[in-house]
Amino acid sequence: MENTQKIADLLFPHIQKTPADFEAMYPPRNLPEGARVTRFAPSPTGYLHVGGLFGALTDYMVARLSNGVTYLRIEDTDKKREIEDGVSAILEGFQTFGIAFDEGVTGFGTESGAYGPYTQSKRVELYQTIAKDLVVRGLAYPCFCTADELAALRDKQEKDGALIRGYFGKYAKCRDLTDAEIEENIKCGKPYVLRFRSDGDENKRIMVEDMVRGKIEMPENIIDEVLLKSDGVPTYHFAHVCDDHFMRTTHIIRGEEWIPSTAKHIALFKACGFRVPKYAHTPQVLKIDEQDGTKRKLSKRKDPEAAVSYFAENGYPKEALLEYLMTLLNSNFEDWRRANPEADIFTFPFNLKKMSASGALFDMAKLRDISKTVISKMIAEEVYTRALAWAEEYDAVYAEILKTNREKAVGMLSLDRGGKKPRKDIAAFSEVKGYFSYMYPELYQKDYTLPENIAKADAAKILKDYASVYSASDDKDAWFEKIKALCAPNGFTPNVKEYKANPEAFKGHVGDVSTVIRIAVTGRQNTPDLCTILQLLGEETVQARLADAAAFYQA
Ligand code: GLU
Repeated sequence: MENTQKIADLLFPHIQKTPADFEAMYPPRNLPEGARVTRFAPSPTGYLHVGGLFGALTDYMVARLSNGVTYLRIEDTDKKREIEDGVSAILEGFQTFGIAFDEGVTGFGTESGAYGPYTQSKRVELYQTIAKDLVVRGLAYPCFCTADELAALRDKQEKDGALIRGYFGKYAKCRDLTDAEIEENIKCGKPYVLRFRSDGDENKRIMVEDMVRGKIEMPENIIDEVLLKSDGVPTYHFAHVCDDHFMRTTHIIRGEEWIPSTAKHIALFKACGFRVPKYAHTPQVLKIDEQDGTKRKLSKRKDPEAAVSYFAENGYPKEALLEYLMTLLNSNFEDWRRANPEADIFTFPFNLKKMSASGALFDMAKLRDISKTVISKMIAEEVYTRALAWAEEYDAVYAEILKTNREKAVGMLSLDRGGKKPRKDIAAFSEVKGYFSYMYPELYQKDYTLPENIAKADAAKILKDYASVYSASDDKDAWFEKIKALCAPNGFTPNVKEYKANPEAFKGHVGDVSTVIRIAVTGRQNTPDLCTILQLLGEETVQARLADAAAFYQA
């Protein structure tokens, strides 16, 4: 190219602005010293992956703790990945988990903030202005190679055994077209892409300071990367460079899959005359494959829990997923939580440098444990209200039962709650239904299976004996005295120690006797405090269930 200005005008006759216009339009942010500007930049796929929430949480924490700004940018330059309204579901996911962006896209077609538009397809004029300027400065050129020519180039590189593959150096046919050739091609309407003219040296390496991984060395970029596709829309590589500059991002926090492209991006920042932001590449969210035990990426296709919506649908409290993701973000989170049990999670002093670089292992069992702890700390009314809110959205029948039996439900949920060692057996609000199903005749399913050490005849006798002494007004002490009194006449001992010392001498101990009663009235071998359950069930139901179970064992 000889007269670059002429070629630039030929390629971009409609572009009148200059980079300086955009510099003026998007001035540096007026933020306190040390404030960090981060962004979450998904494609509008209508799906929020747990890995996305993990990344966004990182952006959010970094900005928040530094009194900075975090914004949501929609990267919709790859039309193949897009769906009609691919934004709302993503935003809904963030809303559920209390991640509030300071600016950016706020809904399908809506946004807020002074650095917008925050959707890439609405920023084409900006990209083309920067691209035009690169052409003027001889740093970009049109490439008219057809798909067939590019395929032939790949074949040739394969045959040559070229170590570096792509459009560069001697393979870059259009790099040295003359102005006349370019003009001729344009006149004939030949489609073209705009390529970066790299001045990289294949023998040189660059050092990237990654905030998570430390220094990463990689070869300098030598590829003449596509900046604008044939429809004038930018590639991710070029778009993010322009956007992160003009949206004044200080820290590009993104998935580790982008590490290999970083040399290219740094070269582009420099060519555009932009300051290179800091980079932090977050680890992938992994899981152990149930089939073969290997670690692999948490997959949208294979793992239902890869979708953030899974947790809302299944009634996991949002706090649990956040707490869990925080443990994956920084391994010292758990210590911090122990020392600050009541603190707002977003005040955790998150540190990018303490992030593990080797992959965050997502373990549902661990998440469920955390969730049980979270729910165990709630008061019964809160569990009730949230279980009802969940049921109203996902289980109308259960919602109705909860509404018409409010007192009973709150009573049940109060069992073994509060105190130093609350019961930890509900991991999700959806589980409240199954957990207490025996409280509601509409849901109750009897199951009279006995533990192996208890004979049916003994169970029948215990139940009959208990039915004759049971009183709905028994308090805990009276109730327990009665259970103990049932032991000896039936060959059991009220004393567990005694049983353990001489198991041959007894059919079982007081725990077995109460288990028989528990199974008869709840269909479960384990429940919270049985005495209270009997009180909540009421005399009529208790007597009916005792009789029914006794008859079953006798038959
Ligand atoms: N749109 C890119 C993606 O979805 C974002 C990468 C980045 O954060 O820069 O992977």
